[in-house]
Amino acid sequence: MSEIDYQRILTSIHRRLGSEGATEEDVRSGDVAAYIPELACVNPDQFGMSLQCLDGSVHSVGDADVPFSVQSIAKVPALLLALTIDPDEVWERMDVEPSGNAFNSLFQLEYEQGVPRNPLINAGALVLCDVLISALKRPLEELYAFVHALSGDMSVSWNERVARSERASSHRNAALVNLMKSFGNIHNEPDEVLDLYVRLCAMEMTCTQLACTFGLLANEGRTLHDGKALAPGVMVQRVNAVMQTCGFYDEAGEFAFRVGLPGKSGVGGGIVAIHPRYYSVAVWSPRLNERGNSFLGMRALELLTAEIGHTIF
Ligand code: GLN
Repeated sequence: MSEIDYQRILTSIHRRLGSEGATEEDVRSGDVAAYIPELACVNPDQFGMSLQCLDGSVHSVGDADVPFSVQSIAKVPALLLALTIDPDEVWERMDVEPSGNAFNSLFQLEYEQGVPRNPLINAGALVLCDVLISALKRPLEELYAFVHALSGDMSVSWNERVARSERASSHRNAALVNLMKSFGNIHNEPDEVLDLYVRLCAMEMTCTQLACTFGLLANEGRTLHDGKALAPGVMVQRVNAVMQTCGFYDEAGEFAFRVGLPGKSGVGGGIVAIHPRYYSVAVWSPRLNERGNSFLGMRALELLTAEIGHTIF
C-alpha cells in the first residue's frame, strides 16, 4: 500500500463531507452531544481528519489541528496504562464481550453482578479509573504523563470546564459506579473515581495528536514519534481486538461492516481507527448519530477504506 496517495484521498473526502461546498452528502445530519452541557457549545460544522503512516508521513485536511473533547476515546490510553500496571487485575474485574447496549447502560451491569462487559463502555472505564487510583500515587498526573509519552506532546491536557460540566451532570455514571461498589467491584470512593473519570474524558486533542497517540497500536507497540516500545505486542493485539468488537458500543458491528478497522469513538465527535502495520487515522465531526458516534466520522472512514481497498478483513 506504499504507493497510495493518502493526501489525495483525504482531500477528496474533505471535499465531499466538509461543510463548505459539500454537495453529495447530507453533512448536516445528527446533532452534538448535549447531555454534557459544555459539549453543546461546539460549532457542529467543523470537520478534520489526519492520517499518519508508520514511515512518519502525516496527511491532514480541514480542522485537523483544532483541539476537541476526545471523551470515550480516552478510555483506550487508560486501558493501556492499567494493563501496563496489572493485566490480571484488569481482566479479573471486567469482560471482553461486546455489550450490544448503550455505553452508559445500567440494566446489563445489574444482571451481570457489577462486572462490566468490556473496558470501553462507561462501567468498564470507571473500573479502570478505580485500578489507577489504587495503583498510582498521583493517578491524574501519571495518566497524563503516560498520554504525553504516547503522543510525544507534553501540551496534551484536559479541559476543566468540560470536566466540571460532566461532573455536575454525571448522575448516570454515579449510578454505574455505585452499583459496582455494591457488588465489590469498586475499591475506592465513588466520588474519587468519578473525579478521575471526568478528567480522563475531558482530554483534549487535535486529530493530528490523536492519530499519533494511537500510532503504537498500528506499530506493534512502538510510538510513531520516537519508536519507543510502550506496550508489548500481545497487549497491542488484545487492545485492537477489544476496539474492533467493543469500540462503538451497540454499533460495533456496523463499524466493522462499513469500515473494517479497529477503532474507538467519543461523544465529542471524534473517531480513531488503525490499520495494523499501515496507519493510524483520526477524524472529527461533532454531529452524532443516534448511537452517539460521529455521523460524518463513520462516513469518512468508510470512504477511506473503500478508496484504499484494504481493511483488516
Ligand atoms: N464522558 C462520556 C460519558 O460518560 C463518555 C461517553 C462517550 O464518549 N461515549 O458519558
